[in-house]
Amino acid sequence: MSTGCLRGEGLPAPTVISIDGPVAAGKTAVGRLLSRRLGYRLIDTGSMYRAVAWLALERRIDPSDEDALKRLAELTPVDITQRDGREVVIIAGEDVSDRLRTPEVEQVVSLVARVPGVRKALVEQQRRIAAGGRIVMVGRDIGTVVLPDAGLKLFLLASPGERARRRYLELEQSGQQVNQQKVLDDLLARDKLDSERADSPLRPAEDALKLDTDDLSLERVVARILALIRED
Ligand code: C5P
Repeated sequence: MSTGCLRGEGLPAPTVISIDGPVAAGKTAVGRLLSRRLGYRLIDTGSMYRAVAWLALERRIDPSDEDALKRLAELTPVDITQRDGREVVIIAGEDVSDRLRTPEVEQVVSLVARVPGVRKALVEQQRRIAAGGRIVMVGRDIGTVVLPDAGLKLFLLASPGERARRRYLELEQSGQQVNQQKVLDDLLARDKLDSERADSPLRPAEDALKLDTDDLSLERVVARILALIRED
């Protein structure tokens, strides 16, 4: 494992950390634990795209209507705050935190996220949030586009089978009726859209550290990252 962008910076710890990767590779869970250990803020940018997708559904905007989606994202910023140790997502004055992981939102989120005007509006907000430093930002394009100067860039990987298993358990625990094959199909469909879009496709930054999490517990992944930071 190479420490790439960490070397030579002379910092006790990078103050901006990006975590990218495909669906259910463990990004948010790793980001949450890592940010707690470092005392940093966590921003899960997926929830920002989900919030815009949720609002588009509420307002019955066609996911192929790029102009309407762009306007929606420009006019309704997404606010992410912490309350009682958890992230709260607010859009258009509504706390939508518990409404973002539904099959309806997942069906359209990657269509909404491929619209350049939507990305531009959200990337601006993300950069503004990150400007204060001491942040772990999680997404698909954080190391490549949003924060190319991040002090540590991570790209998490896991096999499709393992990712589908994790996603299945997550959905089951949240009380949703799910079929394992459908979970895998949906996950691969979303990855395909995210990887093949023209604007900011999912891919590792050249200086990102790739971590395969298939055989590693959450604790082990975070311990490895912390060890790397301290080693430096
Ligand atoms: O990470 P999560 O599954 O919550 O992200 C939901 C969707 O939001 C992704 O499938 C992707 O289409 C989009 N997304 C993105 N860029 C990001 C974060 C998420 O395009 N930085």
